[in-house]
Amino acid sequence: MDVRYLKGVGEKRAAQLAKLGILTVEDLLQYYPRDYVDYSRPCPVAEAPYDEKCAVRATVYGKTGGVRVRGGKTVFKVTAGDDSGSLALTYFNAPYAVEKLVPGDEYVFYGKLGGTMMQREMVNPTALPAAAAEAEPFAAVYPQTEGVNSAYLAKCVKSALEKGVTLPEYLPDDMRREFRLAGKMDAVRMIHFPKSAEDVRQARRRLIFEELLALQLGMLLLRGRGSPRTSVRVKPPDLAPFYKNLPFAPTGAQTRAIGEILADMESGAPMNRLLQGDVGSGKTLVAAAAMLAAVQSGYQAVLMAPTEILAAQHAKTVASLLEPLGVTAALLTGSVKGAAKKRLLQAIASGEAQAVVGTHAVLSEGVEFARLGLAVTDEQHRFGVRQRTQLAQKADHPHLLVMSATPIPRTLGLLMFGDLDVSVLDELPPGRTPVRTYAVTGKKRADMYGFLRRELGAGRQAYIVCPAIEDGETDLLAVNSYYSDVAVPLLAGFRVGLMHGRLKPKEKADVMGAFARHELDALVSTTVIEVGVDVPNASVIVIENAERYGLSALHQLRGRVGRGGGTAHCVLVSDHATEAVRKRLSFLCHTTDGFEIAKYDLETRGPGDFFGSRQHGLPTLRIASLANDTRVLKAAQEKALEAVRGDPALEAPEHAPLRALAESLFERGVAMN
Ligand code: ADP
Ligand code: MG
Repeated sequence: MDVRYLKGVGEKRAAQLAKLGILTVEDLLQYYPRDYVDYSRPCPVAEAPYDEKCAVRATVYGKTGGVRVRGGKTVFKVTAGDDSGSLALTYFNAPYAVEKLVPGDEYVFYGKLGGTMMQREMVNPTALPAAAAEAEPFAAVYPQTEGVNSAYLAKCVKSALEKGVTLPEYLPDDMRREFRLAGKMDAVRMIHFPKSAEDVRQARRRLIFEELLALQLGMLLLRGRGSPRTSVRVKPPDLAPFYKNLPFAPTGAQTRAIGEILADMESGAPMNRLLQGDVGSGKTLVAAAAMLAAVQSGYQAVLMAPTEILAAQHAKTVASLLEPLGVTAALLTGSVKGAAKKRLLQAIASGEAQAVVGTHAVLSEGVEFARLGLAVTDEQHRFGVRQRTQLAQKADHPHLLVMSATPIPRTLGLLMFGDLDVSVLDELPPGRTPVRTYAVTGKKRADMYGFLRRELGAGRQAYIVCPAIEDGETDLLAVNSYYSDVAVPLLAGFRVGLMHGRLKPKEKADVMGAFARHELDALVSTTVIEVGVDVPNASVIVIENAERYGLSALHQLRGRVGRGGGTAHCVLVSDHATEAVRKRLSFLCHTTDGFEIAKYDLETRGPGDFFGSRQHGLPTLRIASLANDTRVLKAAQEKALEAVRGDPALEAPEHAPLRALAESLFERGVAMN
């Protein structure tokens, strides 16, 4: 039902509500408060605490009319009090609020108490008649936009409820009993108009559970998991020539991971494995070994990377590791065009291209594999869920290996990837020294450039990372002007390159290639270099506006250096270092363990950083938080897995409500993305 059916909602209001994502009355009922004004336990005047928000019950004694003061404001004074003391109320520019106060009547005022022991004071408090505060002791505070305030939203919700609008109850009775969850409409009423803090708790618990269940069910449906399946069976490969061709000995962790992967691929059931390893732990080599195993059994393998730069780099690595063994490798990105593309697609379709490396271009229509047996994705968390599903559909249940440098907590991993097995590379190749990390303010920029000149003079290379592309975003150093006004003059005599996301893929590849060949000494870049790029001679990375990033992202960036010999350095520059920022950056200066860093991020910033805001393909959540509601998430996960176990597509009649629930969340997610 359109919101315009509600009393008091016309075209203008409807447009404002639409900005909040509220188009229908059902949307409105599910636009949940973010907080409440608590009128439930008002204090007597004398007991009200100073300097914090509180509710005070008092009788209005009298009021003065508006007095204009400097600055064009109009001031109203109201006196109030109780047996314990008197309370002075000052209202600026709020004639309507004052008009409603009737001398002799009792109210609950909510606001911050100031003034002195002799004269307590509140400025622009909200007020409710005492009787109303008793009937509805909590007033919802909604996330708002201009023109729509909480009182208005509450009024709309109330009129929707009075009209008898209901939302479907998706949770089966037995599930509600098991977790003692309130009914849907009870929860909706309680969340908007709670009578007590307990009501809020009950309502939130129910709604969070429902939302996380929907999310988990939706993910399981998307992935089509739960069905028993068979996959191509790979013969035990002969990896001796592969190891012989390596310029170094594999680490113990690499050998172990390769063993785990081969066991999966030889089992006959589809592999679904996450290879987790800190930056620089050597995941590419493990992927190449797995690809070789597939090829030796007559299958093709594909390795997908999130950027063209990374794909090109992986293609080079894979070619150098596998071509000497007679494997035909190929690179497919968006910039392969025309006749070259046609030839490549043919080679992929005929099976001649055995190890294909590419960007999401490998998912596009027209890319047909002859016999795809293994799909590897790198920096997995950056791919959307749908892209991954598309990849799996390029063949009949290929083995899946996903690689990530970002340690993902178990519950979130389950949510994103389903039931994954995990291999961990917990050992860095020998000879790595931790990257020395410093946090400095912009005042130190000149010194820092002195240091850069010395490193470059000694034959090393440097990355300089800035976040924005063009001027405009206030106070961000735009990469273009930074390049010409700061980097080039301060690095006079050195070859400085510039790279950002607006360059064409070919241009990016050229710049990156020049840097890799040491035809450039320094590279000013946006975070397009963030993932995976490997230039061992680079020994310094400077990150401007470091406060903008999550620690995991900074840790990734830092991983670009320290890959060759010698000491590597990472300088985190921040001109707006608040105490909180300083604390975060200093944590990074003293920690090299990616797991610890990810944990810190999750605790302080939430899970967004794991998945890179919208790219993760998760629908937006209305009430649940993936960071805070992990216990509920676990319970919901168990129920979701239970439901799909015997009925992977949720087709049984008794699962119809759960299916509808999952679809409701994902429809909305798609619409809003
Ligand atoms: P990541 O896990 O971050 O993707 P890479 O696969 O890019 O790591 O490897 C990082 C660097 O370490 C590369 O230059 C690679 O050649 C090198 N490397 C990988 N394995 C070893 C090893 N066992 N010994 C020495 N160097 C290695
Ligand atoms: Mg990598």
